Amino acid sequence: MSLRQVYQRPAAELIGCADCGLVQMLPPVPANAIAECVRCHRPFAPPARGSIDSALALTVAALLLLLPAASLPLMRVTSFGVPRRNWLPTGVEALWNYGFASLSIVVFIFSIAIPFIYLGLMIWVLGGIRLGLTASLGKLFRWTAALRPWVMLEVYLVGCCVAYTRLESIGSVGVGTGGWCLLAATAAAVLATLKLDEQSVWDALPPHGASSIGKQAISCETCELIIDARNERSPCPRCGATLHRRKPDTIQRTLALVITGYLLYVPANLIPVLSVERFGRPDPSTILSGVHELITNGLWPLAIIVFTASIVVPLVKLFGLTLMLIMTRLRSRRGLVFRTRLFRFIDRIGRWSNIDLFMISILVALVQFGALTSVRPEPGAIAFAAVVIITMMASRNFDARVMWDAASEPAAGQRA
Ligand SMILES: [Zn+2]
Ligand SMILES: [Zn+2]
Repeated sequence: MSLRQVYQRPAAELIGCADCGLVQMLPPVPANAIAECVRCHRPFAPPARGSIDSALALTVAALLLLLPAASLPLMRVTSFGVPRRNWLPTGVEALWNYGFASLSIVVFIFSIAIPFIYLGLMIWVLGGIRLGLTASLGKLFRWTAALRPWVMLEVYLVGCCVAYTRLESIGSVGVGTGGWCLLAATAAAVLATLKLDEQSVWDALPPHGASSIGKQAISCETCELIIDARNERSPCPRCGATLHRRKPDTIQRTLALVITGYLLYVPANLIPVLSVERFGRPDPSTILSGVHELITNGLWPLAIIVFTASIVVPLVKLFGLTLMLIMTRLRSRRGLVFRTRLFRFIDRIGRWSNIDLFMISILVALVQFGALTSVRPEPGAIAFAAVVIITMMASRNFDARVMWDAASEPAAGQRA
């Protein structure tokens, strides 16, 4: 067991690695140390950089700041002497009015619904622990954990920055009170995530009726509780998730989503995602021409961010998952630790691809100056949003542990 500075665990306990599946005995970890998996080097608990109290305070602050962020103007742009302002919900409304209902719903869910629900649930769980009312909090914290990858406040904020710079070529742009509140809310929410040691929340939520563990143990996918393997398919006594040795049908589901991702990646990049209409003449632009426009305006850093997030990240995810599926099929032992780390990385970066989607929703809401200049969404944006969501779902459905299972099984076995 390799130990690094930072975290403290109370006593020896059985622990199942969520990345490689190895069930191992974790000895008492000295103060200021952090334990890693013996096999894949996954840290078992993130460094405790704060307490539940500070995470709770920051989450409350984030929610309180998000209210004005959603109700006050985010940005204003003045073009040809006409001022226009946008609010968080205006992008949703504008996409809906152009007949892009699916995009409108996606933007609504990511930019408004999920942040509010997530922060609300988080306050409920952390506040409940603080007050000693832990009954049924396990299930709530499971929902919180499931929502976390889909909370995209910081991605939305970068989308605002990209929209801001593109708007500068149209008129004079300013940030509204809502915009500053959004910046502060995002900072508080990000800090809360950094301050929160998820495992200490799970440790504060005791499982109902602890059972003894026989020869075979499985670990809960959500809360990582170790349970006797005979309890497979029954609800986890701590978080209520259905227990599985591995994520069900992980290979088939991931494969189906990866293939769909490849098929949608082509139209997402070839078909225009938006068009700028000047004096009645439409000028459609694809994701790549949007990047080109940023370069011609001398905005290299933003161009690199958008190119990486929108074009490189989805490809890295698709290629990475394809590699993992093939090597699992071949029962390869090569680069298991690297593949596991790559998977963890892929699973985390996927959300950043939504920058362009949010930028489109902001431009469509703000740039409506009648015949002079207007921006409208184009069908490529639907394909693009689908690629982002489908590749995120693909990595969520992939169970990294099957790579280790496949590598350690004899070729005759067909278990995965
Ligand atoms: Zn491991
Ligand atoms: Zn659980």
